[in-house]
Amino acid sequence: MRPMTPESPAARKPGRLFFANPGPTNIPDSVLRAMDRPTTDFMSADFIEVYDRAVAGLKRLLFTTGEVFIYTSSGHGAWEATLQNLFSPGDRILMPEAGYFSRVWGAMARALGLEVEMPEADWRRGPDIGAIAERLAADTAHEIKAICIVHNETSTGVAVPLPEIRAALDAAGHPALLLADTISSFGSIEFRMADWGIDAVVGGSQKGLMLPAGLAFTAVSEKALAAHAQARLTRFYFDWTRMMARRHRSFTGTVPIAPFYGLLESVRLIEAEGIEAVWRRHHRLAEATRRAVSVWSGNQGVAFYCADPARRSDSVTAIRMPEGHDGEAVRRIAYDRFNVSLGAGLDPLGGKVFRIGHMGDLNEAMLLGTLGVVEMALRLARVPHARGGVDAAIEYLGAG
Ligand SMILES: *Cc1c(COP(=O)(O)O)cnc(C)c1O
Repeated sequence: MRPMTPESPAARKPGRLFFANPGPTNIPDSVLRAMDRPTTDFMSADFIEVYDRAVAGLKRLLFTTGEVFIYTSSGHGAWEATLQNLFSPGDRILMPEAGYFSRVWGAMARALGLEVEMPEADWRRGPDIGAIAERLAADTAHEIKAICIVHNETSTGVAVPLPEIRAALDAAGHPALLLADTISSFGSIEFRMADWGIDAVVGGSQKGLMLPAGLAFTAVSEKALAAHAQARLTRFYFDWTRMMARRHRSFTGTVPIAPFYGLLESVRLIEAEGIEAVWRRHHRLAEATRRAVSVWSGNQGVAFYCADPARRSDSVTAIRMPEGHDGEAVRRIAYDRFNVSLGAGLDPLGGKVFRIGHMGDLNEAMLLGTLGVVEMALRLARVPHARGGVDAAIEYLGAG
C-alpha cells in the first residue's frame, strides 16, 4: 500500500494492493506478526533456538543436509559471496546467458576477476543444454571450474531443467561445480539440492519464502566446501571460513533478529501446507495464468515471451508486447487505476514485456483479480489481444 503522507492525503486507495510482482512478494500476516518484536540478545539461548530451527527448516526445504551460509543482503550479495568463496582469480566458469539475471551474474564474475564464458542463448528459450554438453565434452583438460545456471530466469519467465544440466556434467565425466540461482524458484518450483547434485545454491528471502528482502543465503555441498578451502578471491565480510568459526555459522557482524522469526514462520507455513503441495499450487496458478495468456495471444497481439511451452515458469509469466506498444502503459493503468502492481520488463526488455508474478502467498482469488485487471488494462491501453482470457482461467481453476 502506498504511504499516506501529509502532502498526499488522497494517496491511499481503498482495499488491498494486489502485489503481482515476481519478487518481492506478498508477506503473509502471520509472518509480519512473527517479526514484530523488540530487540533481543542474539547470543541468548532463546534466539539461538529460533535461529537453529529456522536454519534446519531452510535445509529441509532445500533438500540438503549440507552447510548453509546466510547473509544480511539481497540476492546479489549471495551471488557475490558464492563466487568469492569458491574461486580464485582467473578461474574459468561457464555462465550461459539467457536473461537479465544470468547476464548480471556473469558481469559480476568478470568484475571479480574470473574468466567467464557466456554463450548467449535464445532468451525466449533459455540455455541450450546440448551446447553445454558439447562444451563440457570438449573441455578434456577440465579448465572449466563451474557451471552457473539461473534455475528460473525471472526476467523472461523461462525455467531450466536442472537435472538435465547435472546429467550433462555426469555424461562428460566433468568435475566442474554446479551452481544454481534459485532465487525465484525456491519455495515455488520443485528443487532438490542433494538429489540433483547441486554444489552451491543461491537463494533470497523475498520471493518464494514470502519474507521482506534482506536475507540471502548459499547452501553448499561437501565438494563446494572443499573448493572453498582452495579459493583465493579476496573476501572478508562474506568469508565462509570466518562464518563457520561463529556460533551462528553465518554473519561476520550483528545477526539480524527479526528476519529469523519471520523465516521460522514462513518455514512453518510451507511445511503445514507441504512443500510438494506448495509446488502443485504454484503449478496450478501458473497454468491458469497460461490459459489466460493463451487466449489473449489468439489474435497476434500480446504473446508469451517464453517460446518453449515446456519451459514456461510456474512462478512468473512474462508477456511480450506487440510491436509499437509499451508494457509500461499496461503496468501504469493496472497500478494507478486498479491498485495492482505487475512486474516491469528488465533491461533490455524494458517496455517490451510486462510480467505477472504468481509466486509466494497466493490463491485463486488473488490470481483471478490480477488476471481481470490485466485484461482490463490491455483493453484500456488498446493493446491488441483476444478477449476471454479470464474466462479460460476460471474454466481451468473451476474444473476441480
Ligand atoms: C530477484 C532475483 C535476483 C536478485 O536478487 P536481489 O534480491 O534483487 O538482489 C537474482 N536472480 C534471480 C533469478 C532473481 O529472480
